[in-house]
Amino acid sequence: MQSSKLTQTLSFGLDIHTGSGDDLLTGCLEARRIRNETNRLDRQGGEWDAIKSVVVDNANHVKNTSQLIVDKALGEIETYHDNKDDDWGRPDPYIDELYPVLMNHGEGYRLFPEDDGTVRFRITATRGTHVKGELRGCSDHFDQLRTAFNDEEWRVGTAEVVHKHNEWRLHVTVTHATHRVASKNDADTIVGVDVNEDCIALVAMSQSGSVKDSVVFEYPSVKEQRHEFFTKRKRMQKAEQTAFETVVQTKERDYVHDCLHKVSRKVVGWVSQFRDPVIVFEDLKDMRDSIDYGTRMNRRLHSLPFAALQNMVSYKAAWEGIPSDKANPEYTSQRCPRTECQHTEQANRQKKRFKCKRCGFQDHSDRKAAVCVVQNWFDEQETENVPSLETLPRVRKVRRAASGPGGGTDSHGAIFASGVHRHGTSAQPSQGAREELKTVASAVQD
Ligand SMILES: [Zn+2]
Repeated sequence: MQSSKLTQTLSFGLDIHTGSGDDLLTGCLEARRIRNETNRLDRQGGEWDAIKSVVVDNANHVKNTSQLIVDKALGEIETYHDNKDDDWGRPDPYIDELYPVLMNHGEGYRLFPEDDGTVRFRITATRGTHVKGELRGCSDHFDQLRTAFNDEEWRVGTAEVVHKHNEWRLHVTVTHATHRVASKNDADTIVGVDVNEDCIALVAMSQSGSVKDSVVFEYPSVKEQRHEFFTKRKRMQKAEQTAFETVVQTKERDYVHDCLHKVSRKVVGWVSQFRDPVIVFEDLKDMRDSIDYGTRMNRRLHSLPFAALQNMVSYKAAWEGIPSDKANPEYTSQRCPRTECQHTEQANRQKKRFKCKRCGFQDHSDRKAAVCVVQNWFDEQETENVPSLETLPRVRKVRRAASGPGGGTDSHGAIFASGVHRHGTSAQPSQGAREELKTVASAVQD
């Protein structure tokens, strides 16, 4: 069974004091040129070792950084070759979006933790050009970074400079020396997660697509508190009471933070009961752009706890040796999960109740969304569609059994033939088969 070192990616904003975002932009453009050049030479049939040395010699990044960027580009091509029988798309020879600058700690970038808790950074944007300043981020990520510096079991690894959501960010990896996390390729149980403002829904499914169990942990107080704090802050902004606003913001953060830690412990505890699980979240990056979610809730209200909760769950899970993964969030709330139906319409969902307008299928809407997360994940493993470049570097070899209980005639057959209808209460779609959640638990009462 494969496993990998426990690695966490910590995301920080950059407060730039010396140099500028334009310097980082130049670095990312150069990274893109390196990446495109690597692909061009590969298409011409060049030997990879030769490609690497030529491209690295001509690059305007420090040697180590150039090598990492070429390795990343070649890794994408290799992933394609490993998976082309499954219709993986070949990496585009020429991309026109930015490419991240990938750096080793102590070489392409360096972090300096200060006694007052701040962390300064120094990034070599291109050869001879340095951008310096201070990291900005959530307390969890700062805690993990400090641990990486102070605990000899941990080390600070590579980092990527990326431009996301209109700002420059640094994604830093920290790795534990000995702790191992199971490979998601060996997963026997796929746990879909649907995070909401007031609850988190989990569904555990087997590789053949049957539902093993499901649960919803509710935290209504987080939602109430956030609304309350949100209103308070708005009032203060109007009155221009910025000092008070900061106090309210800190209180809100601490309260929500505390609740989310409790919730994440419950989640990991529940997931641990299954054999070889992998936890699958919706990809937040996609979620932000998704129409489905844009209307589902106020994005300002949801942005913070979603990312924080995902991070806490995946971190705690990793300590239990459990891997996490992400799936496309598209239509998870609107789509009917029944194979034969898959009708997608906003009106299918009425708050906590999902009722398919076409076939009448009913379920708890969040639990159903978690099932759709797993379906999307299965779809991505099948790679029937050409994956986007962002997903290419991740090698996925998980396979659903070729013929599940439903005969496996189509991509969702196995899942729902034995999934929501697992008790055989109703196999007739027209009867509006429904299965209630096994458990609705309140995770945070205070
Ligand atoms: Zn339906």
